[in-house]
Amino acid sequence: MINHLAREQNWQTQLNTAVTDPVELLNLLKLPLSLLNSTAFDGGKFGLRVPRPFIERMQAGNARDPLLLQVLPLHSEQAQTVHYSVDPLGEQAANTLPGILHKYHSRLLLTITGACAVNCRYCFRRHFPYQDNIPHNDDWPRMAAYIEQHSAINEVILSGGDPLAVSNRRLAQWIERLETLPQLTTLRIHSRLPIVIPARLDDELLQLLTQTRLNVVLVVHANHPQELDAETKRALKHAVDAGILVLNQTVLLAGINDHADTLAALSHALFDCRVLPYYLHVLDKVQGAAHFDIPEQRVIELYTQLLTQLSGYLVPRLVREIAGQPFKVPLDLGIYTAATSDDSLQLHEA
Ligand code: SF4
Repeated sequence: MINHLAREQNWQTQLNTAVTDPVELLNLLKLPLSLLNSTAFDGGKFGLRVPRPFIERMQAGNARDPLLLQVLPLHSEQAQTVHYSVDPLGEQAANTLPGILHKYHSRLLLTITGACAVNCRYCFRRHFPYQDNIPHNDDWPRMAAYIEQHSAINEVILSGGDPLAVSNRRLAQWIERLETLPQLTTLRIHSRLPIVIPARLDDELLQLLTQTRLNVVLVVHANHPQELDAETKRALKHAVDAGILVLNQTVLLAGINDHADTLAALSHALFDCRVLPYYLHVLDKVQGAAHFDIPEQRVIELYTQLLTQLSGYLVPRLVREIAGQPFKVPLDLGIYTAATSDDSLQLHEA
């Protein structure tokens, strides 16, 4: 019990002591404070937030570090960009009850918390109205009734925010509730916490996830191989060894992972801990993230290179989420591959 408590405090302490001040972050990374000229000090409700174990994987003195660029708020985020919106995936329309997003036929998302360990600058939910969407205990009967009324739903996805930002006790409560609904077979958890604070995958959590009657799928979120240091790999492998299916999703980000070699290295690093690449997402056009966008032809070019470099099981599915569509839409490679000779592929490789 004491050990469990200590571990719980450990990840929770790391969660609570995340860096939120850009000056402190630049000092830790031995970067000049003149960089603050391009930094939005006040990221509003979505300011800088980055846990220290993740900072330790950044390269000191490198202002273009791929992990730093994912978390540092820049002035360019404040530009209003045409075709970008605060709700790029039309989630308001899918928000059928507080705490519920019903976008797909057989799956349902529960936004059980608005908290995250890290504020990713490209996040499509950076403007999401969490304040109206965190379910309270007395909301559960209505949520359960909603699920029962939609008998096709067999899988619930815990989302957020980051669902692993809540305590194991609270998580157990949610799992117990979901287990009471016979129609549910699968529990999916989407979380970046195991990447940024690997201590989150503590024994108590793994026990919780392996003892439920539900099939559990843990989908973590890493974008660059540098995110997978020895400690993170050890924690992921520990979860896999415990019998949990762990998959990874990645967002394609300009200046961070827009090279086939980087994406291939990420797939290999994931496979080192037996985590399989699941989705490679094209950026969702959320206001504030336009500087991460990659033109579609370049995306397809990159992906085609990835297909040539990796075994099929290491290639994540390249998808785009389109508001109102009943599934994530695979990008059409046909046009590009039909018009692309082997020679031009080699040219791009070079
Ligand atoms: S952890 Fe996930 S939900 Fe939280 S800011 Fe990052 S991408 Fe968004």
